[in-house]
Parts: sequence; structure tokens; C-alpha cells
Amino acid sequence: MNRDLLGIRQLSTDQITDLLRRSDGYFLQLNSIDPFRKSSLLDGRTVANLFFENSTRTKTSFELAEKRLGATSVNLSMQTSSLTKGESLIDTVNVICAMKVDCVVVRHSSSGVPQLLRKHLPDHIRIINAGDGGHEHPTQALLDAATLQAKLGSLKNKKIVIIGDILHSRVARSNMILLNKLGAKVTLVSPLTLTPKYVEEIFGVRVVHELADEIKDASAVISLRIQFERQSRSLFPNLSDFRMRYGLTPLRIMETNAFILHPGPVNRGVELDNEAADSEKSLILQQVKRGVAIRMAVFEWLFEDK
Ligand code: ASP
Repeated sequence: MNRDLLGIRQLSTDQITDLLRRSDGYFLQLNSIDPFRKSSLLDGRTVANLFFENSTRTKTSFELAEKRLGATSVNLSMQTSSLTKGESLIDTVNVICAMKVDCVVVRHSSSGVPQLLRKHLPDHIRIINAGDGGHEHPTQALLDAATLQAKLGSLKNKKIVIIGDILHSRVARSNMILLNKLGAKVTLVSPLTLTPKYVEEIFGVRVVHELADEIKDASAVISLRIQFERQSRSLFPNLSDFRMRYGLTPLRIMETNAFILHPGPVNRGVELDNEAADSEKSLILQQVKRGVAIRMAVFEWLFEDK
């Protein structure tokens, strides 16, 4: 059976470890060979990037990974797609695939779209989930783990705190599953109104609603963007109240040695003050670098002969 990357949930711990190891190799190559010579791994392969929701860094990162592996990429964005003319998602995707595509990278605002495409597309077309609604964002969680491991070594028993809008965050979901599989101890810090019901039981994490001393003994903190686009009503009083309760302010980062991660885009002055985003503890640009390496590793894994 061909491989897909629909979510972290479908990956075993061994597969995650394998992907992280492969990505380390690509990360080293990307950083040490100048100029990086294109590999021929995806020579003759065509990858369709179907982004039905806005994206800058994830889309660019996938495109770079594809180009560095020698693939031909085609891009379809919501604005130019026939969906705006009333065609169904499946029809649009079938049309693209009839053009002999080997892999589809899909981002959509509805949860479950990659799984839906899996049911409709022929088996030989590989599917990568680049973020589906509030459900999963597997390559983000993998690149976060690669970034964390590079600093912390094994994540077993390491305290990782995820702060902010957990309810609407696919990044939080994929990270909770992945960090659990790698043995980390995950604590969520979020307002009650931005915390999914039963998250402790379902994901095996600890939940608190006040930041207090939580980050003082943490190995790393993953701060999340407030996902206004998925909120139809106001779930907290205002942005400055949110910053006071959950933001990484200069005072808070002085009290901890924890590394700081954020999937981007960052709302400076809300989730992270400049002092946090630009501090020595910030790994945000490392995450971006690791992102290309992880996506190269995912393509290698999807297309290797088994
Ligand atoms: N870039 C991440 C995502 O696509 C995080 C965010 O948008 O806040 O989910």
C-alpha cells in the first residue's frame, strides 16, 4: 500500500523517529552545502499544491522542498480555482489529478478534507495534509519536534507547555499526539473558553487555565496564534487582557530558561512580546529552517520503494 501523511495519529512512534532522523540529514545538507545541489529523488514526479486556505510559510516551505528534490510543482490557490465558480472540491481535484499528478499537498479550512480526498483519489496518488481546519497539521508538529530535539535531545519526560488558543489549533492537536508518542509531558495553558472539552482524557495532557509558574520549570513553550478566523464570537475580554494572562512578556521570559516556539504568523504584542520573539531562547527561525528539511524527509518517505 502506498504511504500518505494524513495526520500524526496514523504514524507509529518508529515512523516518527524515522522521519525526524531523515530530516536531520536534510537539515545538515541544507546548511552545509552552498549552493545546495538539487537532488533527483523526485525527478519526473509532479506534485500539486492545493491551498484552499491562505498560507505563506507552509506553502513556500513545501514548494522549496519539492524543488530541492527535483519535482515539478503546480500550484492551485483558492482565488484561482474553479471552486469559486461552483465546482465541487472532488471535481476540482479529479481534474488536477487527470493531469497525471503523483502527489497532492492539501490545505483546507474544513477538517477531514485530506481523508475525503483519500477516499476519492486513485491509490497511487500520495496525499499530504498541509493543515485541515482545526484538526491536524502533521508537518508542523514534525518540524516542531525536530527543532525541540535538536536543542533538548530526547523529549522523554521533558515538560513542554502549549499556551493559547488550543480549541481552534490544529498545531496543538498534532503536537499533543506527537509529543505524547515521544514521551514528553505536555501541559496546556489556555482560557477555559479556548480549551477543548475532555482534552485531558483524549490526549493525555495536563490542563491549567492560569500561566502562573508553569513555564518556570518547562523545557520549552509553544505559543499559539489566536485563530480569529475560526471564532464566530468573542471568547475572551480583549487582546491586552489575553496578553496579561497568557502572553510571553519580558518579565515572564526572564523567569525561565525554556525555549520559545511559535508556528507563525506571530501576533507581536499579544502571544509574544518582541523581547520573547527575538530573544536568544526563541527558536522561531529554526522552526522555519527545519520545516523545509521535514517536508523533504516526508517526500522521501512517501516515494521510497518498499
Ligand atoms: N500556520 C499555522 C497553521 O496553519 C498556525 C497558525 O496559522 O496560527 O495552523
